[in-house]
Amino acid sequence: MYRIDTNCIHAGYEPGNGDPRVLPIVQSTTYTYDSSEAMGDLFDLKANGFFYTRLGNPTLDAVERKIAALEGGVGAMLTSSGQAASLLSMINICHAGDHVVASSAIYGGTFNLIYKTMKEMGIDSTFVAPGCSEEELAAAFQPNTKCVFTETLTNPSLTVTDLEMFARQAHEHGVPLIVDNTFPTPINCRPFEFGADIVTHSTTKYMDGHAVQVGGVIVDSGNFDWTNGKFPMFTEPDESYHGIVYAQQFGKAAYITKARTHLMRDLGTQASPQNAFLLNLGLETLALRMERHCANALAVAEYLEKNEKVAWVNYPGLPSSPYYALAQKYMPNGTCGVVSFGIKGGREAATRFMDSLKMASIVTHVADLRTCVLHPASTTHRQLTDEQLKEAGIGGDLIRFSVGIENIQDILEDIQQALTNV
Ligand code: PLP
Repeated sequence: MYRIDTNCIHAGYEPGNGDPRVLPIVQSTTYTYDSSEAMGDLFDLKANGFFYTRLGNPTLDAVERKIAALEGGVGAMLTSSGQAASLLSMINICHAGDHVVASSAIYGGTFNLIYKTMKEMGIDSTFVAPGCSEEELAAAFQPNTKCVFTETLTNPSLTVTDLEMFARQAHEHGVPLIVDNTFPTPINCRPFEFGADIVTHSTTKYMDGHAVQVGGVIVDSGNFDWTNGKFPMFTEPDESYHGIVYAQQFGKAAYITKARTHLMRDLGTQASPQNAFLLNLGLETLALRMERHCANALAVAEYLEKNEKVAWVNYPGLPSSPYYALAQKYMPNGTCGVVSFGIKGGREAATRFMDSLKMASIVTHVADLRTCVLHPASTTHRQLTDEQLKEAGIGGDLIRFSVGIENIQDILEDIQQALTNV
């Protein structure tokens, strides 16, 4: 077993004699077999192998193995976007009539997914404040609750979830904890080590890091007991797969196997081989980039905190952050490159500051190697009501500053000159 920064480069793909040294893009929808019987065994899930790229592809497979190794899971499945990963992670185990407990501070897209689309699918939800007490969290569960969904480090309010507390409550109620680990990445936090059962990512963010592909991934820890009576989809025969019983046939990999053979088969939200190749290039430098993102972000946060034009700064790596202690516990080597802050003068001052930046660009993106900036209340989260924005910890003045890996002096000088225009 190599260390995590070595796994960023080597895990998942082991070329044999004469094979390409770099992970190849297998741009083929289909695969040939010598006999109908050999192919029939694949369809029956009696044998392993590729038969159609919607269900599996060698390029995707290698990247899935790499991400599973980085998170410490038994298996992973790439998806076409982070949104698809969030949706599939929940509907793999939640059906009409079920209920989800979720943190109210999660990414706006995931909030809407749970609050609107999953509700329309008949799946109800209760949102809890990210900093809720254990009693408040316990009170959110119902007899039909099937999972808890949260983010390690929430986008954009940067609250740190008490993963052990969330996992304890989920397990006491017989359900898994699903954690979106997009912001810290497995370099800074591996939620399985704190009791999470399933991890998701928008790989569009740091994992890629270069803003060249939209993608997602679901990782299975293999630790949750799906035979506890609450999840018949793992213990009763699946008629659409010749009566296989997932928990019996796939053991620790039951959840991730069902996500692929059932949901990917029927919903088809797979990643493309080209995108998996690009994602893999990003993963190769993930450890190096995260180190630099975190060092630069801390310097930016410290600089902003001392500037008299700045009303407030939120960065969990700052000792002044209410989440500093939790960040030290769950992410002792650094959190992420995103800093949120407000400028005196509110929304108007925020707009002037953003429009005055020269190197940092205004984009609907975050966690990129280029410094970028966004005003969530008027963009990614504009569909939320004032009440929902408040619950998500997003004020009208909040600027989400995604610190890149450029030279820190250039980043600070850009901020400094933009602040003179406020
Ligand atoms: N999760 C988090 C934390 C995100 O920030 C995002 C997107 O910003 C998503 C999920 C959705 O990912 P995607 O845009 O790849 O669909």
